Amino acid sequence: MQIEVVRLQDMFSAIAQAMAREKERLCELDGVIGDADHGIAMELGFSAAAKAVAALDPVSSDPTAVFNTAAKSFLSAVGASSGPLYATALMRAGAAVKGKISLTDNDMVDAFEAMAKGIQERGKAEPGEKTMVDAWAPAAAAARSAQLGGKPLVACLKAALDAAASGAEATKEMVATKGRSSRLGDRVIGHMDPGAASAVVLIDTIAHSFDA
Ligand code: ADP
Ligand code: MG
Repeated sequence: MQIEVVRLQDMFSAIAQAMAREKERLCELDGVIGDADHGIAMELGFSAAAKAVAALDPVSSDPTAVFNTAAKSFLSAVGASSGPLYATALMRAGAAVKGKISLTDNDMVDAFEAMAKGIQERGKAEPGEKTMVDAWAPAAAAARSAQLGGKPLVACLKAALDAAASGAEATKEMVATKGRSSRLGDRVIGHMDPGAASAVVLIDTIAHSFDA
């Protein structure tokens, strides 16, 4: 498929709506092992991003401008640690598709993989440390392997979603070694990491925004 700027604007709008819907659940998860603000952070960040992106002229803007605009708005709207993590992810997505007027399936998988790498490099978390990386890293690997297997974008993103959901589920058994919840030791066992949970919401929404 060819993904135009308008489609990316719609994608950000869908993400903002999904985060508004999931805000309370994400805050509750963060309330158990953090400071209960993760849903607020994600909702604030993506509503600011969606609003700024919607204001871009789809004719004169390219996909890189969309991702960079989203990154900047996310960063200024969010004070929590998810702010710089997602701002970096979105900047990397923009860099991955630099110079393109519209995106192919392959370009979109490149952008998706760049987001995951950006989060990992910015936060310096490895898989197994009970963070959003436990959803993003397997999701990016699954998307890439589906894409190399010749699958269309929606199937790649569906594979990513399944991997993210399993990864998020697996955080329940982990002890945190990065971020706020690392202070709680064994007490976090049995609880899903909120950042991994919101990554599943995000990836689910991205996948759905391309399946119509
Ligand atoms: P804060 O912890 O500052 O309140 P949020 O509540 O918005 O920030 O986000 C918490 C989430 O951020 C955690 O659940 C975890 O997934 C993620 N996180 C925290 N530190 C890191 C890190 N170093 N690398 C990747 N993700 C991280
Ligand atoms: Mg928090």
